[in-house]
Amino acid sequence: MSWWDLGEGRGYRNGLPMHQIACAFCGVADNFEKVQHNERKKPGDDHKKLNYDTLKCGQCGNLMFVLWSTGRSGLTDYQMLPWHRSTKRHPEHWPPDIGRYWVEAKRSIEAENWTAAALMARSAVQLVLRANGAKGSNLKQEIDDLAEKGLIIPMIKDWAHEVRELGNEGTHPQPGTTGTDQRDARDVVEFLSFLMQVIYDLPHSIAQFRARKG
Ligand SMILES: [Zn+2]
Repeated sequence: MSWWDLGEGRGYRNGLPMHQIACAFCGVADNFEKVQHNERKKPGDDHKKLNYDTLKCGQCGNLMFVLWSTGRSGLTDYQMLPWHRSTKRHPEHWPPDIGRYWVEAKRSIEAENWTAAALMARSAVQLVLRANGAKGSNLKQEIDDLAEKGLIIPMIKDWAHEVRELGNEGTHPQPGTTGTDQRDARDVVEFLSFLMQVIYDLPHSIAQFRARKG
């Protein structure tokens, strides 16, 4: 993996997603002046370049650096320094109810509330399954049902069951429980983010791709 791979295979459509780039200091999004722009072509490849932008926040005046590139598929990805230190929003194309759970799960990780993070993420996973028509009287059956419907591949189904067991302790605590372990909590939230990519980001990307081709 090299920085030249930025934007290759994953990223955002229609260029740099300024509407979701928020100031790392005051949190205000999409209010920047570009005070410097540099770019460099990849040696031996006329189609690939890296862009180096310095942005100044119109609200608080602080500076941020954005490294970005558009890949062959037309997707644009970026890295920012510094970044906002708390999660405030979810991608716009996600259902708002599930998005709110994801934001709370992420924020619980950021606040090091591991049990709360795992609980929120586990509930969000269940919400994703139900929103996609999964049937069953518990999370285990719902995971199996969605796999049977072909919406998740066997590998994700197996991972879903592992994550379900990690989140179980927080959901059904016994006296004396020490709560969810930090690494387990991170794994559950990671799985949720991955599931969101598969169920919502991927179809969204395909729809955008078709619209562009259409
Ligand atoms: Zn600002």
